[in-house]
Amino acid sequence: MILQQIFNAINLGIIIIDRDLKLQEWNRWMEVNSGRTVDSVKNLSILEVFPHLNNPKFIRSCKSVFTFGNFCFFSQKLHHYLFPFKTKSYSDTRFEYMQQSCAMGPLRDENNNITHLFIYVQDMTEVAVYENKLVEMNLRDGLTGIYNRRFLETKLEDEFNRHKRYGGVYSIIMFDIDHFKNVNDTFGHQCGDFIIKSISSRIASLIRNVDYLARYGGEEFCCVLPETGIQPAAGIAERFRAAISQQENSFDENVIKVTISLGVAEFREELESSSRLLKKSDEALYRAKKEGRNRVAVAE
Ligand code: GH3
Ligand code: MG
Ligand code: MG
Repeated sequence: MILQQIFNAINLGIIIIDRDLKLQEWNRWMEVNSGRTVDSVKNLSILEVFPHLNNPKFIRSCKSVFTFGNFCFFSQKLHHYLFPFKTKSYSDTRFEYMQQSCAMGPLRDENNNITHLFIYVQDMTEVAVYENKLVEMNLRDGLTGIYNRRFLETKLEDEFNRHKRYGGVYSIIMFDIDHFKNVNDTFGHQCGDFIIKSISSRIASLIRNVDYLARYGGEEFCCVLPETGIQPAAGIAERFRAAISQQENSFDENVIKVTISLGVAEFREELESSSRLLKKSDEALYRAKKEGRNRVAVAE
């Protein structure tokens, strides 16, 4: 009686099936989440009630519990879930189904024969949502929401090694806001932040979904253009330049226009590392500044 109360109060799904894989018991948690009472499923095969469990892996796992008395684990990271229960309580979730960590093991009678098998189901959705958020936050810049420098450097390294090995082209564009100190000095730091955000979202709206844009430093950005040679990359950089120079940024009754300078460089076999490529685009950017700003310079 006492055990029965725990069985029904515990925040875990508990299922008991017999050697023919027929459902014998499940607790209140299972009733709530599956929408079915235990009486309505008693003596039905678990494979009938949850048809997608009718797969070799699940059946093999059940057999090994009955034959060898093993325990089997189904981690959320690998399987996501065993029982397709729609998520309800997490409004910002990207998971359509409750994420679950499950385990199964043997139940024995007084003669030590395995007569039944239990499965427990743990709701891991909240943990998985939180984990995803942490991973995302680690890749993104807090102010602008675009990728951060750490992500960029990892990605550049991957891209570089891949092209060294398999060939092909790609280019990068570095750009920096012109005379940005003046913006901060004249309109304040908050306005400066606003301009950084509005420039990054304008550029983000111009790139293809295979490209990626990162905030490299304070008001310095880098855009990676896969499968793009230096000529088209220079054309794209010119489009960025023109778009930003025409953009009117309204902040606190002020309309502020800024310009950017850009340096473009292309992957070359002879470069020894991804940081060399970054350096080349940075040198080109420096030249664009020196030659008068609001312009694109291409690395030699
Ligand atoms: P240049 O045309 O040579 O690039 O001139 P600049 O004034 O933009 O010079 P520089 O790029 O060296 O200066 C960057 C300035 O940007 C200095 C710093 O105060 C400001 N800055 C860097 N990060 C941020 C930020 O997150 N928010 C704001 N508001 N300002 C920043
Ligand atoms: Mg600047
Ligand atoms: Mg700068």
